Amino acid sequence: MTAPASYPSHVSLIEYPHPALRRRAAEVTVFDDALRTFCGRMFEVMDLNKGVGLAAPQVAVSARIFVTDHERRKRDDDDHSVSDRRIWINPRIERTTGISAFEEGCLSFPGIYAKVHRHNQFDIVAQDEYGTERRLSLDVDAGDFLGIVVQHELDHLDGIVFVDHLTPTQLTLCRRKLGELEKNFKKATGSAGSILRR
Ligand SMILES: [Zn+2]
Repeated sequence: MTAPASYPSHVSLIEYPHPALRRRAAEVTVFDDALRTFCGRMFEVMDLNKGVGLAAPQVAVSARIFVTDHERRKRDDDDHSVSDRRIWINPRIERTTGISAFEEGCLSFPGIYAKVHRHNQFDIVAQDEYGTERRLSLDVDAGDFLGIVVQHELDHLDGIVFVDHLTPTQLTLCRRKLGELEKNFKKATGSAGSILRR
């Protein structure tokens, strides 16, 4: 399965338990202006919601793309000088070592934060918006916050969300907030969506 030949002209953020968050996204094979325009729209949605990363499934598009700006964490809202915007297409993780724990949140799970275990050191290999493949080595414990962001976003491309990594005890603490999101979704759509098994 490959990513759509055309992308929607208007995109907006979807929240748990929207079923699009649970689908495995399709490989991108065409690197054209339509793709680059879509990436621009993803940055707009990410900025609007003050995120450090956004994956295409979070705007209900099934394509293996995410965008990041890990430097946003350090800046005031009006200060655009601190920025490091990157586009990641068809990414994969290789050569993993060690484990690191970090408190994560997700634009699709507003108000929910929890400590998640991730790889500490690894390489990420991804194509840019022109199809050029690049490899980057990251080390979370050495200060690469980007290493957390890319692992979180890559999960989205496989239909995995950060609360899937939580222990039953951690999930219990999130249950009320998850319940509110489920209620909102049901009210807006009339369907239950894809709720977590718990
Ligand atoms: Zn997320």
